[in-house]
Amino acid sequence: MKLDAMGDLHRSHTCGELRKGDVGKPVVLMGWVHRRRNLGGLLFIDLRDRYGLTQIVFRPDADPADFERGSHLGAEYVVAVTGEVVERPDGTTNPELPTGEIEVHVSDLRVLNASLTPPFVLEEPIKASDELRLEYRYLDLRRPHMQRLIEARHTAAAATRSYLNGVGFLEIETPMLAKKTPEGARDFIVPSRVHPGKVYALPQSPQLYKQILMVSGCDRYYQIARCLRDEDLRADRQPEHTQIDFEMSFVTEDDVFAVAEGLMAAIWSAVRGDEIETPFPRLTYREAMERYGSDKPDTRFGTELVDLTDLLGGTDFKVFRSVIDGGGAVKCLNAAGCSGWSRSEIDRKEELARKWGAKGLAWTKVEGGAFAGGVGKFFSDDERATVIERAAATDGDLLLFVAHDRKKANEILGKLRLVLRDELGLVQPGVFNFVWITEFPLFAWNEDTGSWEAEHHMFSMPRAEDLDLLESDPGEVLGRLYDLVANGLEIASGSIRIHRRDIQERVMAVVGMSREDAERRFGFLLKALDYGAPPHGGLAPGLDRIAMLLTDEDSIRDTIAFPKTYRGLSLMDGSPSEAEPEVLKELGIELVGPRDDEGQG
Ligand code: ASP
Repeated sequence: MKLDAMGDLHRSHTCGELRKGDVGKPVVLMGWVHRRRNLGGLLFIDLRDRYGLTQIVFRPDADPADFERGSHLGAEYVVAVTGEVVERPDGTTNPELPTGEIEVHVSDLRVLNASLTPPFVLEEPIKASDELRLEYRYLDLRRPHMQRLIEARHTAAAATRSYLNGVGFLEIETPMLAKKTPEGARDFIVPSRVHPGKVYALPQSPQLYKQILMVSGCDRYYQIARCLRDEDLRADRQPEHTQIDFEMSFVTEDDVFAVAEGLMAAIWSAVRGDEIETPFPRLTYREAMERYGSDKPDTRFGTELVDLTDLLGGTDFKVFRSVIDGGGAVKCLNAAGCSGWSRSEIDRKEELARKWGAKGLAWTKVEGGAFAGGVGKFFSDDERATVIERAAATDGDLLLFVAHDRKKANEILGKLRLVLRDELGLVQPGVFNFVWITEFPLFAWNEDTGSWEAEHHMFSMPRAEDLDLLESDPGEVLGRLYDLVANGLEIASGSIRIHRRDIQERVMAVVGMSREDAERRFGFLLKALDYGAPPHGGLAPGLDRIAMLLTDEDSIRDTIAFPKTYRGLSLMDGSPSEAEPEVLKELGIELVGPRDDEGQG
């Protein structure tokens, strides 16, 4: 088809703008051909842009040549139409569409560009595969649904800036070509051409720079920061993600939490118009594990884990008894209303529990105030009465028990709790439950390396009362570190930081770093701490996950304009791609070829 120039034609309105009050106006609209229908000698086109859809009508009597060209327009052609706004005839209005009471009768058509037939239909919900959507991301993003997601993310970022600016934060950029900023992943490395043999690392987060900004006296810093981590990718991870990174001086947890709560309230109100309740409840890590079996508990529903260990110390049931005698725990979950489950349904849950490391899943049903079936017969009357009371069980409930070491028992029932949530529909859409998790252990024991490592990162301050345990019993040291969790998703993590060299060096020693090593890798931080570093702390909410929650999506990929596949590929532009030999030579690099296990996807 012959293409036209836009010339000096000016768009007068967007495709989402015209209403009944505009009837009679001459207009110029520009956009993409969304759909074309030929009805009773009239040609209808839905013209689409970011703002909406407008129905365009071609009548053969107006301009037979335009009518003819209009009938050949394909999907996603880009057109400009000049015409008049007309009220739709009775019975043809579309209440679903904001522009549904009007249509535009075309007096002139310009075809600004053609389109090949799109490889998938731009429909809602989209049926195309994820791979195809990512390869043709520009088409995928044209869908109204994706446009809404991009807009929601923008609104969240704008609300972030406006809120933080309003409470005295300065937006400060930190380097992308950086010294290593460890966050527990591998670094992406950038070799220096000017300094052969030396490298920059891309920042895993602005952690050390934001701490140094506190030493610099900036007092309140934030940045919507890109964080790059070369991790083994999982479904909800991306090699680059975005954090709302902030840091504050002379603060305790309460100050950081208050800012974060105000920020979340501002974001939720801007994007969803919802008022969220603040302050958020707080749970220690230990309480979260005991009650929900997870350090990111979904608190939208109850079904909490019930501890029976103290009760069953003298039980006749040998399986429970031997676990308790061995220092383990017996915990139970009330699957309310599930006494009708068949044996095979219970077996399926047991299979899951075994997959997660349980030796078995004991059960009994509550019927007529008594226990029926399973391990019910092993409970004395007193024990039964207490279990029923603790689990708030009533007739028709099914009790599920795990006996194991305490950590594992909690984890297994925590996972089962989420299965019950999904199968029994225990949560309602549109509900958001935030909770702070505090006092995480500072260190975790790494079985593989046989050494302690930082649970979060090694710049978090131990609790004052645990300082003496640093060398003698690192596993017992709790840190002033915290996560913000919403609906079972970790959406932020942060801590009060170490601002003194002596404590920082001791923590580095616990994770096995020699003095020389510490100096070589973090000498710049230690040196800065020597020059009057103020007490400080901060947080880093993850914008991708927040955007996902705000838009009721279940993949972070949909909230990122150009995401990578879980194998780290960008299907649209084909990165990572080969580097020219000259470029590598200049950098003094020799690349080995692809590994055998390197696949697509
Ligand atoms: N830098 C930390 C992270 O990326 C967040 C923080 O401690 O502020 O997890």
